[in-house]
Amino acid sequence: MMRIDKQTAPDKTLRRDTQQRREIRQVFQSNDRPLAADEVLRLAHRRVAGLGMATVYRTIKALTAQGWLVPVEVPGAPPRYEVNGKAHHHHFRCLKCGKLYELRACRERPGKLVPPAFRLVNHVVIIDGFCAACEGKKKSTRRRALPMSANP
Ligand SMILES: [Zn+2]
Ligand SMILES: [Zn+2]
Repeated sequence: MMRIDKQTAPDKTLRRDTQQRREIRQVFQSNDRPLAADEVLRLAHRRVAGLGMATVYRTIKALTAQGWLVPVEVPGAPPRYEVNGKAHHHHFRCLKCGKLYELRACRERPGKLVPPAFRLVNHVVIIDGFCAACEGKKKSTRRRALPMSANP
């Protein structure tokens, strides 16, 4: 006879963990911009019953350790995370809502700023401004509406 009763509890926990992780990954994939832990909780808690901040932190940590997520550091703000393996890109930070958006291209020529005999390894560009939603413009979902070469 099978002793199902002893297996039930750990199976349930494992299934719940797997489901929570899947839903959190889904949140990152469907939003397609870097997310902070509190944003993940807000976006995922509708889909996952009983989801709490501790679980979100733990899941983000595990997905980062796996290499599925990478942190996006923003000075003076909590770290955001984005799906690993994207092509080289930069970010736009809204000064009102605090959301970080992905800019699809790099139009800088940072190599030109580096003195001769120096070697460029990496560069980070964050453009600050106001997103279309905060500006009250209707075209908030159009990515190309984002200013690529802000010239204030
Ligand atoms: Zn905004
Ligand atoms: Zn670049």
